[in-house]
Amino acid sequence: MTLLLLALLQSPAASLGFEPGADSMLADWKQVSTYMNGLAQRSPYVHVDTLGRTTEDRPFLLVTITSPANQARLAAIKRGQKLLADPRLLTDTLLAELRATQPAVILISNNIHSTEIASSQMGMTLAYRLATDPALTRLLDSLVVLMIPSMNPDGLDTVVAWYRRYKGTRYEGGPLPWLYHKYVGHDNNRDWFMVTQAETRLVTRMLYTEWFPEVVYDVHQMGQNGVRLFVPPFQDPVNPNLDPALVAGMNLVGAQMASALYDAGLTGVAHQQSYDLWWHGGFRSTPTRHNMIGILSEAASARIASPLTLPADSVRQPPRGVNYPGPWPGGTWRLGDIVRYELVASEALVRLAARDRTSFIDRFVALGRRQIDAGRAGHPFAYILPPSQRDPEAWATLANVLLAGRVEVWRAAESFDAGNRTYPAGSLVVPMAQPFRAHAKDLLEVQRYTPVNDRPPYDVAGWTLPFTMGVRADVVDAPFTANLVKVDSVVPVPGRIEGTGEMFVLRNRSNGESRAVAALLSAGQSVTISGDSLIVRGAQARRILGEQAAVHGFSVRAVPVAPVTGKTLRHLPRIALYQPWTGNIDEGWTRWVFEQYGITYATVHDSNLRLGKLRQRFDVLVLPNESAPGLLQGVDSTRIPLQYAGGMGDAGANAISEFVRGGGTLVCLDGSSSFAISRLNLPVVNILGGGASGPQVSLFYAPGSIFGVALGGGRGSPVTVGVPDSLDIYFENSAAFTVTGTARALATYPAEPLRSGYARFQERLEGKAALVEVPVGSGRVILFGMRPQFRGQTHGTFKLLFNAVLLAAP
Ligand SMILES: [Zn+2]
Repeated sequence: MTLLLLALLQSPAASLGFEPGADSMLADWKQVSTYMNGLAQRSPYVHVDTLGRTTEDRPFLLVTITSPANQARLAAIKRGQKLLADPRLLTDTLLAELRATQPAVILISNNIHSTEIASSQMGMTLAYRLATDPALTRLLDSLVVLMIPSMNPDGLDTVVAWYRRYKGTRYEGGPLPWLYHKYVGHDNNRDWFMVTQAETRLVTRMLYTEWFPEVVYDVHQMGQNGVRLFVPPFQDPVNPNLDPALVAGMNLVGAQMASALYDAGLTGVAHQQSYDLWWHGGFRSTPTRHNMIGILSEAASARIASPLTLPADSVRQPPRGVNYPGPWPGGTWRLGDIVRYELVASEALVRLAARDRTSFIDRFVALGRRQIDAGRAGHPFAYILPPSQRDPEAWATLANVLLAGRVEVWRAAESFDAGNRTYPAGSLVVPMAQPFRAHAKDLLEVQRYTPVNDRPPYDVAGWTLPFTMGVRADVVDAPFTANLVKVDSVVPVPGRIEGTGEMFVLRNRSNGESRAVAALLSAGQSVTISGDSLIVRGAQARRILGEQAAVHGFSVRAVPVAPVTGKTLRHLPRIALYQPWTGNIDEGWTRWVFEQYGITYATVHDSNLRLGKLRQRFDVLVLPNESAPGLLQGVDSTRIPLQYAGGMGDAGANAISEFVRGGGTLVCLDGSSSFAISRLNLPVVNILGGGASGPQVSLFYAPGSIFGVALGGGRGSPVTVGVPDSLDIYFENSAAFTVTGTARALATYPAEPLRSGYARFQERLEGKAALVEVPVGSGRVILFGMRPQFRGQTHGTFKLLFNAVLLAAP
């Protein structure tokens, strides 16, 4: 029976009815997962696990391909990987045994970016070839190939459905009007240390608690006009937390791939293009802080599955050289070409890892050992997160972010002294002597990006979590002793209602209090702003506050009487969040953050805005980060179907103006501020409008950095209730304002505001505003020159956004 089934092992073409990569043909997630499951049923080389469910409830798969003998001992192999990942557990005997018996483990992850679709199709062919081609199957005693067929199955289906719907029309292969991940779109590859999304969590758990592969290969595509395939070596600079052997290992894998591609007669393979080794947060970069060789390839794209013809003189490629020995001659570029390049690159990695099995194992162990030794040597020795924090929930979240990345976090059972300070029991300690030290250190320390050849960083320049999250984390350079208990997860110390009385005073210092305010207003409870506090009353308020304080760690003071003379909100403001048809990622993150904090909103589109009479339906309108042309004109109807084309137009802009003059609150996130300034004629100037495109320009430039701001004149506005006098904000090519007339600066830059990342000519920011409030008619406009909810990371500034939508409503 087994032999009969083996004979029936179907090729992808036989299963799908077309060869993966054929022009205009795409397999969706049902087809891809059915194929993988079928292979697993019939081949002793293939095993499929469902790691969990995606954001939109599809099964998320991991395919494990190795020899039948290895398949029979997967649990033992996983135990071996865990030992290799943590050399503290390894004895010499154990290591010798593992060097003799343990296969190398690699992970190939496909299709994280859904429009970069070739790898989702390539994976079926790769799995089939690994299970059937004798030249490959014979390598599988020495190797376990883990493959994620799609890192975002929801997005694969979104893109395939769109492509099929418009195939044969003028919109074939054109842009999507919405995100290909429910919340975060392309930023699903910006979430790898913060792990906010379902798919990120599933893969992170598999990587760092279960499989610990020595190599992670993330398969991407880029634009249509450049080189045909980028593979490492990456571009400078190199993050200081990357061990040289790791960097050399990435170079080795990239060189092996390029060599195989040129051997196969393919051209246009390049090294040292745009992708640098500075950034943390991508799926190729977070594993490198876990001693894994993390790489990506980036293939030139077709028009999704439709071919594209590029004359040689239209291709933007570097001259022939050591990093680009074989320029592409131009011509037609098809989905099948991308599949072929990716297949050759993947199989090159398979052969390398099988052949050099022991050196991959030895390098992985040595990297872990060097991290532990560096941590023992100190500078830093540990980070300490004391329990008394402005926002206890942010403190717990930061610890849980570290724990998700398999960083060891310990809790002090009693008070202790370290670095000339005394810390109370309950303090969290992150010692640096641990295998994933680089991950913890890189998230907790300050980044100082130094441009090489005047280039901007590939992604952001800084990400220091204690700053973005508003959490105090002390660095201790020298050894100390403390009574510590290892923790698996951290919850805030339960808060409670203190004092007696039926009036309750909230200091509104934590995000949990904003969640409570949303719950109170939703339940029909009144909330009064009294100076820098919020006041609520009654038995139902007591119940809601008691429950929320216990879970989210804030405290509430009960008093018999309190002044209730300030502005009183009597219901949850009717909040509208504008969703342009441009697939706006900031809109998605805003939606995600609102949902995490129980803030109910309605999504509005261009057609809703153009209808006008917005004030009858909404109290607050939020415009996400989008340029003024993006808001007004959207995507041109030559590129996208008419119903999604053209932006909000004059009709929409006029409706917004009428909404504000009629008493509404308009909240503009970063880029959309410029739209409001010009359309509503606000007495505000964005001094960075027209912006620089890179540090080579002799103008101010800051790509994803953390700046300090002072509240100064911002007191008395509902937007700043409970916000500290100085705080760290996230700036990503953001706006900065000067104000006149009735406009008011709520937060202002001090001299030298840079805290982490990079800024050129930062002195230009001094005295400028990062947050502005302007009364207009009977309404108001709030302009954010920052990213208060950036990628779901900036817990330290969520409060400003929550106040803007909850407390600054009419
Ligand atoms: Zn990509």
